[in-house]
Amino acid sequence: MVKFQCSIAINLVLLQCLLALVASQRFDFFYFVQQWPGSYCNTKQPCCYPTPAKPAADFGIHGLKPYYNNGSYPSNCDPNSPFNPSKISDLESSMQKNWPSLACPSNNGQAFWSHEWEKHGTCSKSVLDEHAYFKAALELKQKANLLQALKSAGITPGGSYSLKSIKHAITEAGGYTPWIECNKDSSGNYQLYQIYLCVDTSASKLIKCPVFPKGPCSSEIKFPSF
Ligand code: AMP
Repeated sequence: MVKFQCSIAINLVLLQCLLALVASQRFDFFYFVQQWPGSYCNTKQPCCYPTPAKPAADFGIHGLKPYYNNGSYPSNCDPNSPFNPSKISDLESSMQKNWPSLACPSNNGQAFWSHEWEKHGTCSKSVLDEHAYFKAALELKQKANLLQALKSAGITPGGSYSLKSIKHAITEAGGYTPWIECNKDSSGNYQLYQIYLCVDTSASKLIKCPVFPKGPCSSEIKFPSF
């Protein structure tokens, strides 16, 4: 009898732990979104280089965004955790290089990072604090190395390529199919704008995307120079 009560108690504790885990996580995966600066800057909208310098001709981080498997996402989850630049001062130079702001007027990038942390980062706070959130994104960028993946397949800025070949090159290099977001240059041609990879809830490894975003593109797209 005592043994039976004991096993019920253990099961209840396990159930409570499981429920706590599910409740604290509150999202299913991340989209890790990287952006081609050439495609941000050649549209009808203006772009402004960040105050330190023109960014390198490389993909820049746009964001690390918690999502649900049904394609929706939480946002602005904690007004009590505003962006605090002093918490990431050791990452500052890497942020300038890898997460450049291209919005006008020119600025040091903190407005963009603040937007990303407050809108998306606060929704993954159960797993990553502010420093861990930005550090994880910087490490993912090194791991994914999109420019190298494309270069290895002969896909370089200044050309036009099939959407299929771009997806194939990234899948070959990283093991998982990405989603490609296109935008239009100032003449209205579709071009490679952002690349979405899916990442597990600890923000440490790439996974197969549970769901893909949606959006228009053409079968042949530009990869403009920057
Ligand atoms: P999100 O809410 O994460 O989808 O981000 C959208 C916002 O980020 C919009 O206001 C965009 O104009 C802005 N944004 C996107 N890329 C950049 C960039 N490279 N620099 C500055 N702002 C950007």
